[in-house]
Amino acid sequence: MSKRLFDLKPEIEKSENIHQEYPVLDKRKCVKCGICSKTCKENAIFWVKDKYPVFIYDLCTACGACMIVCPNKAIKTKQEKSGESFINRVNDNFWLITGRSKPGITETGPIVSEVKERAIEFAEDRKADYIIFDTAPGTHCSVSSFVRC
Ligand code: SF4
Ligand code: SF4
Repeated sequence: MSKRLFDLKPEIEKSENIHQEYPVLDKRKCVKCGICSKTCKENAIFWVKDKYPVFIYDLCTACGACMIVCPNKAIKTKQEKSGESFINRVNDNFWLITGRSKPGITETGPIVSEVKERAIEFAEDRKADYIIFDTAPGTHCSVSSFVRC
């Protein structure tokens, strides 16, 4: 009887962290104008008049829009791990490149893009005959990130 793909138990050859740049407020430069909060489409910046904005990291997708619009360059970045990619060996000629987001990450698009890039690089290095991609169904961010990059 032939072995089905999901019966195989690939071994992890290599894992690599995936990082994203998250916003951090520099209070010395912030004038509490709230422009960043009004710009954030994820509602990840809580702001009330005359107060410093507060970042809600569970909602932040690390898109960088708040950093771009801040008139005082009061938003810096910090690099944080958002997921991992894995190179799995199924057999001598068959490799599986997969990714996993950190628990609590709502925006997985950047992880999908990074895993796809690593898979292409890996396939090119090994002069692979074929590369087959698979992603989640639907039209949400992770799928559009996959198709775009
Ligand atoms: S846009 Fe810049 S200056 Fe204005 S509240 Fe946000 S961080 Fe502060
Ligand atoms: S990086 Fe993007 S999602 Fe995160 S707080 Fe700034 S504008 Fe919002």
